[in-house]
Amino acid sequence: MQAPVDAYYGKRLEQTAEALRANHFEAHVVADADAARNLVLETLLPRSGVLSVAFGGSLTLAATGLPAALARMDNVSLIDTLDHAIPAEQLYERRRQALLADLFITGSNAVTEDGLLVNLDMIGNRACAIAFGPRQVAVIVGRNKIVPDVNAAMARIKNFAAPVNAMRLSKKTPCTATAHCEDCGSPQRICNVWTIIEKCFPRGRITVICVNQDLGF
Ligand code: SF4
Repeated sequence: MQAPVDAYYGKRLEQTAEALRANHFEAHVVADADAARNLVLETLLPRSGVLSVAFGGSLTLAATGLPAALARMDNVSLIDTLDHAIPAEQLYERRRQALLADLFITGSNAVTEDGLLVNLDMIGNRACAIAFGPRQVAVIVGRNKIVPDVNAAMARIKNFAAPVNAMRLSKKTPCTATAHCEDCGSPQRICNVWTIIEKCFPRGRITVICVNQDLGF
C-alpha cells in the first residue's frame, strides 16, 4: 500500500498537473527524482531531436543526476553553466548562450495549484529562459513547491526559499542573519527578477515534471 503522505501528494500533484495542462503546459507526475531523469532522457530528448542542452541552477535538477547523465552523451552538446570553476566572465557568456539551447532544464521556485510557474532569480538567466529563448524547457519540481496561488508562491519564495538559498550561498545579506526577507539593498541580494508564467506559449513548449518527493528549497 502506498504511504498515506505519498498518496496525499499524489492526488495534489495530479490536480496541479491537470491545471498546468489547462494552461497549455505539458505536465507529468512521477514518483521520484530517478523517474524524472528517465522521463527526460527516454522521452523528451529523443522526441525533440535535441542537439544542445543547458541548465538553470537548481538543487532539484542536481538530485535527478541529469547534468552528469547528459555530460556522458556523445550526441548532446552541453552548455555547462553550472561549472563555477570557470572564470565569471566566461560563465556569464555561457548563460547568454544557454538562452538559445534546444532544451533548457531547471527547477521552479513554486508551482501554484491553478497551474502557474513562479520564479525569482538573482541574474534572471533561469527565470527568463523558462519564459523565452530555448526551444523546449523541462521544469522539474518537488511536491514541496506546490502552493495554492501566486500570493502563497511569492510568500514562500521570499520568506523561505530566498533566505535559505542566501544561507546556502553564504551571501552577505540581512536574511542570513534574521531568517526573514528584509527587502535589502545589498550588492549580494539574490532577489532581482520575478517571472510568472500564466500560460505556456507556444502550447507544450514547457514540460513540467511534478515529483512526489521533497526536492530543493
Ligand atoms: S531581498 Fe535581500 S533580504 Fe530579502 S530574501 Fe532577498 S537577499 Fe534576502
